[in-house]
Amino acid sequence: MRFASLGSGSRGNGSIVASQTTIVLVDCGFHYKEAFARLKRLGLDPEDLDGILVTHEHSDHVSGVEALANKHSIPVYASRGTWIEVGTDRFNNPINISGLFSIGDIDISPVTVPHDAREPLQFVFHCNGMRLGILSDLGSLSPRVIEGYQDLDAISVEFNHDLELLQKGPYPAFLKTRVSGDFGHLNNAQASELLQRIVSDRLKTVVACHISETNNDTSRVKQALDHVLAHQDVQRLIASQSDGFNWIEIGRP
Ligand SMILES: [Zn+2]
Ligand SMILES: [Zn+2]
Repeated sequence: MRFASLGSGSRGNGSIVASQTTIVLVDCGFHYKEAFARLKRLGLDPEDLDGILVTHEHSDHVSGVEALANKHSIPVYASRGTWIEVGTDRFNNPINISGLFSIGDIDISPVTVPHDAREPLQFVFHCNGMRLGILSDLGSLSPRVIEGYQDLDAISVEFNHDLELLQKGPYPAFLKTRVSGDFGHLNNAQASELLQRIVSDRLKTVVACHISETNNDTSRVKQALDHVLAHQDVQRLIASQSDGFNWIEIGRP
């Protein structure tokens, strides 16, 4: 299994998870032309996609899904709550997620997360004995999240904001409350705590994603990663809004 990102942050998200035979896109917050160009950068064409998973209805995750899916007849998977918000009638092939499911040879476990959307899910992918977690858009660390993201070989995890930078920053008070609340986004300290609670000898790759361009700083993210993973032999990367990140092979040093 390998994974990559089309871009990550509040202006658009999209992650790719691929096995030898199956390619899945998680979210698409980029309009068609932009998504096409970003897929191309990873050597992909929309026709290559076997499915699109939608984590929740916020526009940075869903705004580009309809055009991409309908134009290329790609099935779209989302929770019932997300479908209620997004509307199934706009899609050619909407599929309801309930529990563990598979696309090709990739098995997918949905995990419920605390976020201010109707029924937000994040995902753990299993294929050929490898386990990859994708986790963003959550305001706090629920027992379900801690339990669901154990025993991973790789994870892409939200380092949304630095609490100090958010508090000092330009956001209006209501937005600061929303972002830092239990149903908002993970700050650097919370993301570090998550890593501390799921780290194992098996974990080889950590990517920090969904980083706020206004309320965080990559040097602080790097510092947090280096601190929490100080005694681990783990590859550390930071996903960007403009480029996401390039292909990462899971389970290979
Ligand atoms: Zn988001
Ligand atoms: Zn969101």
